[in-house]
Amino acid sequence: MEKIVSLCKRRGFVFPGSEIYGGLAGTWDYGPAGSLLKKNIKDLWWKEMVQIRDDVVGIDTAIMMNPKAWEASGHVESFSDPLVECKICHQRFRADKMEEIKSHEKEHKDQKVEWTEPKTFNLLVKAYLGVVEGEQSEIYLRGEITNGVHVNFKNVVDSTRVKIPFGIAQIGKAFRNEITPGNFTFRSREFEQMEVQYYIKPEKLEGEKWFEYWKKNRMDWYVSLGIKKENLRFRDHADDERAHYAKAATDIEYNSPWGWQEFMGIHHRGDWDLSRHQKFSGQNMSYHDSETGENYIPWDIETSAGVDRSLLFLIIDAYSEENNRTVLKFNPKLAPYKIAVFPLLANKPELVESARKIYNDLRKYFTVAWDDRGNIGKRYYSQDEIGTPWCITVDFESLEDKKITVRDRDTMKQERVAIAELREYFESKLDN
Ligand code: ATP
Repeated sequence: MEKIVSLCKRRGFVFPGSEIYGGLAGTWDYGPAGSLLKKNIKDLWWKEMVQIRDDVVGIDTAIMMNPKAWEASGHVESFSDPLVECKICHQRFRADKMEEIKSHEKEHKDQKVEWTEPKTFNLLVKAYLGVVEGEQSEIYLRGEITNGVHVNFKNVVDSTRVKIPFGIAQIGKAFRNEITPGNFTFRSREFEQMEVQYYIKPEKLEGEKWFEYWKKNRMDWYVSLGIKKENLRFRDHADDERAHYAKAATDIEYNSPWGWQEFMGIHHRGDWDLSRHQKFSGQNMSYHDSETGENYIPWDIETSAGVDRSLLFLIIDAYSEENNRTVLKFNPKLAPYKIAVFPLLANKPELVESARKIYNDLRKYFTVAWDDRGNIGKRYYSQDEIGTPWCITVDFESLEDKKITVRDRDTMKQERVAIAELREYFESKLDN
């Protein structure tokens, strides 16, 4: 992990939040390479979940909501973790994270650690809204992005042609007052989620069918992104572990350097959200099934993934050290830069000019990096470290035969490709 954290900072993936002021625990900033990677994850997710499906539409709801929405969803009452405090140093921990508790006890070596009784600690982050001092209203920054979807259920049904079963997808920021943020970006206080709320008929068999469907669908997606199968597994939640809204819940876990950890969750939320919003808002949230003539409150199968966790686990999974080089072997679709262009020598204007032209042409279609520093070996090393799948070198022969050398990140093989065919060449590689 130390190597990965250091690479992330050095090569512009992830920086500690507000670093020049000593940081702010649990916040992270994404640099030039990291923001591209994050965007690629979100774009691929959106394409898979919304663009190519007939039964899912997108939405983008406000982070700040009427606080009643959080009472209705049960977050004000139950969105909490059990907090315990070490009586020696007063550091606070989550009582349900036994490994963190044990490792803290070891830090005190010879002293016997005593803990306070667990108290429930609400994770919602509070904010104050309004311009008149003393008359501001207390609101919450959303603790999960789900609520904005449910409160718009009727708006979506009335404004589109969706019919049950259908889903509403959203990507956006969530905020939690985590007791112990840590393991780099894994547990942050500000993070992004990508979710689909999939509304179905309120029938047991439908629930089971769609729960299984989404489990498989999500697992297959992570595998298609290139995550090693042996590093992924399902873990069903025990009855006493499930969130207040869940009828059934499964996590997809990743075999991280600190053990198997939750990557994303699939939750059978039943009619919890819509029924509660109906009760608290007084608005009718039921769905009219035009085929059967029935009115009912649908059930919801949710898939909820963290963008930041996905990014972290994708980097960990892609990280490899071989033959004196460090390589991030991302699926090319995820790579921040698809191509890097180099003139063989930076002090030969004819090479630089030809390379610049290729760089500018390709940039219309792909994210492309430029490098003319040092020698070719160093440039390859540097691109391998940020996971660029293909490097192009323009040499003296290129000026004659109008071909350049493409070097492949993973095989390190080189091939000559006609400059005129480069766009199709890379498009077909990215389509694979
Ligand atoms: P944990 O038990 O790890 O705190 P959770 O079960 O509370 O997570 P959910 O509420 O199911 O998480 O959130 C869905 C997804 O959102 C998680 O699988 C994870 O990818 C992401 N997520 C949740 N909390 C955080 C966080 N503090 N930092 C980064 N990502 C998070």
